[in-house]
Amino acid sequence: MDAYQEAAEILAHAKRAVAFSGAGVSAESGIPTFRDPGGIWDKFEPEEIGTVPALLRTAQDNPELIRQFLLDTVTVFERSEPNRAHQCVARLEKMGIVVAVITQNIDGLHIEAGSQNVIEVHGSLLRGRCLACDRQFPLQRDTLFKRAHEMLDDESGFSIDKVALILPTCSCGGVTRPDVVMFGESVQRIQDAFQVAALCDVMLILGTSGVVYPAAACPGEAYKAGAKLIEINPNEKCFGTMTNVFIKASAERAMRTLMERVKNRIAEGTKKPNG
Ligand code: NAD
Repeated sequence: MDAYQEAAEILAHAKRAVAFSGAGVSAESGIPTFRDPGGIWDKFEPEEIGTVPALLRTAQDNPELIRQFLLDTVTVFERSEPNRAHQCVARLEKMGIVVAVITQNIDGLHIEAGSQNVIEVHGSLLRGRCLACDRQFPLQRDTLFKRAHEMLDDESGFSIDKVALILPTCSCGGVTRPDVVMFGESVQRIQDAFQVAALCDVMLILGTSGVVYPAAACPGEAYKAGAKLIEINPNEKCFGTMTNVFIKASAERAMRTLMERVKNRIAEGTKKPNG
């Protein structure tokens, strides 16, 4: 049996599968991963922009670098759309196979693809958070990117203070920020993530190097609880002997084939025996 068939067999019998995704699932939506050559982190040093203090320091010393970083980020994210892998994960939820998605991504593409139960452990670019009352609120995608461009293209010059003007003021009057987790900040909903991981019977791992903790501990939680692990990555297997089935392919290609096989497997299972 090939890896696809083995994975399809496992998924077709799953009662509460959980998808666990990283940057690789969005690579084919045009968002580079941490490691992709030419990606954002190839051009900018995390030490210069990855934490709030570093960002503020660099904004003082080299505002043009921050402007360029924001422009690159906005340009990449605004062009992105859910790809077939996001869509297949959403479809598996509709079919009653996947019960939750845990994602390390901040791009909002699982939700946009139609997944209903998404735990975004590193936050979302499409959500704001009030620094005064901690309220979280959705950001309208088109408005966000339009205002970002107006600010970044403003001929009167760029300064970090103007970034705050992209986001609305909170109803409490507080200043707000994008609800994304920067290096050194606390992750979000990690207990929910560990809980669904520990309750799943199958974990479908898509496009993650598994090095960013605590999120990367989710597959271990699933494994400890007896779940089967299916891992999709075009480069290397990242979860070692915990992985039951490794599919060495890009997320889109792998999910397209896997979906076909799952549907066929389910159809075969519901056929009446000849006789
Ligand atoms: P990572 O960059 O460390 O690893 C990405 C993994 O995806 C690698 O193992 C790579 O081999 C694999 N990959 C590359 N192309 C792929 C494809 N087409 N299909 C499937 N897999 C592919 O990413 P990570 O493990 O998510 O951890 C890094 C952190 O970066 C995360 O915290 C995440 O929040 C953040 N990040 C998010 C985005 C996003 O929101 N889309 C993008 C870049 C980084």
